[in-house]
Amino acid sequence: STPSVDTDTTTAVPAAGTTPPKNLRREVERRRTFAVISHPDAGKSTLTEALALHARKISEAGAIHGKSGRRSTVSDWMEMEKARGISVSSTALQFDYADHTINLVDTPGHADFSEDTYRVLTAVDAAVMLIDAAKGLEPQTLKLFQVCRHRGIPVITVVNKWDRPGRSPLELLDEIEERIGLTPTPLYWPVGIAGDFRGLLDVSEHQYIHFTRTAGGATIAPEEFMDSEAAQSREGDDWTTAVEESELLVESGQRHDEDEFLAGRTSPVIFASAMLNFGVHQILDTLVSFAPAPGPRPDVAGGEREVTDPFSAVVFKVQAGMDTAHRDRLAFMRVVSGVFERGMVVTHAQTGKPFTTKYALTVFGRERTTVENAYPGDVVGLVNATALAPGHTLYADRKVEFPPIPSFAPEHFAVLRAESASKYKQFRRAVDQMDQEGVVQILRNDIRGDASPVLAAVGPMQFEVVSARMKSEFGVEARMEPLGYSIARRTDAASAGELGRQRGVEVFTRTDGVMLALVSDKWRLQYIQKELPDLLLEPLVAAA
Ligand code: GDP
Repeated sequence: STPSVDTDTTTAVPAAGTTPPKNLRREVERRRTFAVISHPDAGKSTLTEALALHARKISEAGAIHGKSGRRSTVSDWMEMEKARGISVSSTALQFDYADHTINLVDTPGHADFSEDTYRVLTAVDAAVMLIDAAKGLEPQTLKLFQVCRHRGIPVITVVNKWDRPGRSPLELLDEIEERIGLTPTPLYWPVGIAGDFRGLLDVSEHQYIHFTRTAGGATIAPEEFMDSEAAQSREGDDWTTAVEESELLVESGQRHDEDEFLAGRTSPVIFASAMLNFGVHQILDTLVSFAPAPGPRPDVAGGEREVTDPFSAVVFKVQAGMDTAHRDRLAFMRVVSGVFERGMVVTHAQTGKPFTTKYALTVFGRERTTVENAYPGDVVGLVNATALAPGHTLYADRKVEFPPIPSFAPEHFAVLRAESASKYKQFRRAVDQMDQEGVVQILRNDIRGDASPVLAAVGPMQFEVVSARMKSEFGVEARMEPLGYSIARRTDAASAGELGRQRGVEVFTRTDGVMLALVSDKWRLQYIQKELPDLLLEPLVAAA
């Protein structure tokens, strides 16, 4: 079946500049915009399918995923995705659930893990941290969690794959508390150990939700609700254990408190099996009940744009070259305030130039659907957005500019050189363009000189994008040589000299002026920190 995306064409939208429509406040209140943060293989794609299934967008799970049986595509970009088995394509999935509109913004995460993955988190109001019951917290989840913490994004924890053997629930929750200092508060506790998933104890209602498996988890698992007595006689010791374990946490103060959750100190926990569709409906209920609706966004002037102010949006991702025939550039914006109406002329804050929004889309898998209007929290793709880069602001009627999206800690580094000296001018222009668009971070130092800048990236695919675009858009063949560094730390001029003399360290200045010390590996870093404790080597989560 083909997934379709709802477009609300029934709502009357006044022209930009008039009073906000009465329904705007209501449309904002009913929206929830979130992302799933996880390590590859934790089940993000499976959960996305399951969520969409619950929202009755697709009749059978498996339609979105398309890791197999992918449609053949024409552009180089798509070829690149295909060759690497990347599951990019869906940027935001919108669906209705329980009288709410839910936006699930995709966080690219396999070979395509890149700075975009982090940037997505600037476009959401909440995150679902998806954990594999057998593996617990994994590196990519930790990195994404740090960005959520830094940005004050509240996190809901979902322990997935409970239908498979895994760790004990208390041990998993202890790990969360100990390693990241987030206090887990159980909402839905598993009945049955990992590998023997019978159902969930609804901790606040003290109710048992028994699930029945369906063939391949392809349809919604039927739920039966029972009181404690019925649960006890049905599940015996498994029920008693669930009650005891969850009470243990609640009695030690680990109960849901909305303020603590919104402040990022606690995280409601749900045990689930995305594959069997167990607990998925409870994830949606939790989002609707506890995740925040879109709120005001700080601007560069130190004020805030209220959701009911005239239209404004922030660009969080740009995809170029998806269609080589058209030099297509698709910019994805999150609506911050007001009502977006396709065709409205908005202003690009960074250049002050008008921007026509005739081509506004949602991109979902291979489907592109025209968007007629959108509200705060919604994600819209704009076609031919040549001047737009991540972090840019669009607004109507009343000027606003949002702060730029911060740069994130890079872990991959390569020197870039033009193959031919005669193309040096184009080479410079291409490098500047990639830098300005935020495709990669550009680092320089006096020793290496301008002709061989260092590219720094969160994921190696960013390098491939640079190579491909330099060739296709600027006609420049460039050579890339990986550098043997894996860590970047912020430093300053006072520490730079001494650091530069250390083995396995090199100091650079990034285009935004931040000085970075690149270090070969964590042992080297630890050694230097121990021997020369006065040098500044500050971790970069997200440079503010
Ligand atoms: P992603 O890399 O996070 O998108 O993970 P996928 O959704 O592709 O899932 C990775 C693998 O785990 C696939 O083989 C899934 O079928 C499997 N998987 C996902 N969720 C569950 C689950 O709840 N239970 C079990 N047993 N397997 C799951």
